[in-house]
Amino acid sequence: MNNIVTASYIGASILFILSLGGLSNQETARRGNYYGIAGMTLAILATVLSNNVNAYVVLIIMMLIGGAIGMTLAKRVEMTQMPELVAILHSFVGLAAVLVGVASYLDPDNQLTGVEHSIHQVEIFLGVFIGAVTFTGSVIAFGKLNGRIASKPLMLPMRHGLNLAIVLICFWLGSAFMGAEGHGGLWALLVMTVLAFLFGAHLVMGIGGADMPVVISMLNSYSGWAAAATGFMLSNDLLIVTGALVGSSGAILSYIMCRAMNRKFLNVILGGFGTSAAAAGGDEEAGEYTPISAEETAELLKDAKEVVIVPGYGMAVAHAQHPVSELTKKLRANGANVRFAIHPVAGRMPGHMNVLLAEAKVPYDIVLEMDEINEDFPETDVVMVIGANDIVNPAAKENPGSPIAGMPVLEVWNAKHCIISKRSMATGYAGVDNPLFYRDNSRMLFGDAKDSVDAVLKAL
Ligand code: NDP
Repeated sequence: MNNIVTASYIGASILFILSLGGLSNQETARRGNYYGIAGMTLAILATVLSNNVNAYVVLIIMMLIGGAIGMTLAKRVEMTQMPELVAILHSFVGLAAVLVGVASYLDPDNQLTGVEHSIHQVEIFLGVFIGAVTFTGSVIAFGKLNGRIASKPLMLPMRHGLNLAIVLICFWLGSAFMGAEGHGGLWALLVMTVLAFLFGAHLVMGIGGADMPVVISMLNSYSGWAAAATGFMLSNDLLIVTGALVGSSGAILSYIMCRAMNRKFLNVILGGFGTSAAAAGGDEEAGEYTPISAEETAELLKDAKEVVIVPGYGMAVAHAQHPVSELTKKLRANGANVRFAIHPVAGRMPGHMNVLLAEAKVPYDIVLEMDEINEDFPETDVVMVIGANDIVNPAAKENPGSPIAGMPVLEVWNAKHCIISKRSMATGYAGVDNPLFYRDNSRMLFGDAKDSVDAVLKAL
């Protein structure tokens, strides 16, 4: 039986790698998902049928309950709530690592001695630490993404000192844990768990505004390492491989996100970005803005040869991707060259806009990355900004005092006309005012993005 389980684990690992490969491209993403589903099914079956498992009744009941909750939530969740769902799912991985760690420490069947025993102790301590940080960090990220916790960074006095103190105390607890006989180290493990809970929460509370994308990918990575640590504790090779895959791909994603935002990873982790959000951001430019009607927008679009659409979080909230797709079809039929400009941190999760546009059947070849299209704005007749704000903020480029200074943005203001569809003059996620709205070539198309685009379609 063990051989079959090992072979299945290898098969599942290969399927997971194929899945990641598939997910790297929109055209193959669907296939990537199928590989992932097949890999996970194989992994669960092999684990359930392995010699280690015998409490089938409990297992099946728990799987049914868990599966039912998962299915209901996944069916109910709106596309805009996807990032929150991902964040809360990361927290489960973290909590699982903590529980498995404590259970593994108390396991009466554990007969390890000597070096093996010490290694197992290190695995438990580290696994529980990473798991606890991931757990509370993800819960806070969940709160920040759904707006229950303000996105502004929490700046406690001496916060770096506080973090350092927690880490140092955890080191000391680690040595006490390692030195204890029998189950005598339980107190150290539990005290460290509480401290790690606080550390994770404090770490993410200190990160604010536009830095959240990095936090999401960082927690994704942590959840992978927490799973890998659980794999070590349980001597489960598949969990180690899967955890390492998630951990390293999350780390690469964090790197990509940092580069996209021109931020150093360490600066993000140390937090505090976006503190003076309300103060800086170009208030000096705040002045007159010019509204535009759907009919006037349609007139401008009718005559335009080069059109670029910039989708943002508001498009997701308004579910405007379908009318936007219709608009694209109509304009292309009218002879215009329509393209989409995707900022790496548009929306609330990596790839958010690509998913929405794919769902609305926008052809992949007209959906371009920021670097591919940023230089084309001067030759563009009309830019339609649909519910985006931070990613088109010129203050990032022009105002060194802005909290988002240095973040690369889509330079839509270089186009002949820039139409911005949003409901009000409110700021975006980073809480920074946007001087784009007051430029001479900018027009504000007020209203819910779906209603606005529908109205433009009707006028066309
Ligand atoms: P923003 O959050 O900057 O702006 C979205 C705009 O959409 C708002 O100003 C809002 O204005 C408007 N809006 C909201 N609802 C509607 C609606 N129904 N119809 C029309 N407009 C609407 O989004 P961006 O995409 O420009 O930027 C993403 C931001 O999120 C960045 O700061 C990024 O760092 C952050 N972030 C990104 C993550 C990622 O991984 N991509 C993760 C976490 C955070 P109004 O209220 O006036 O309508």
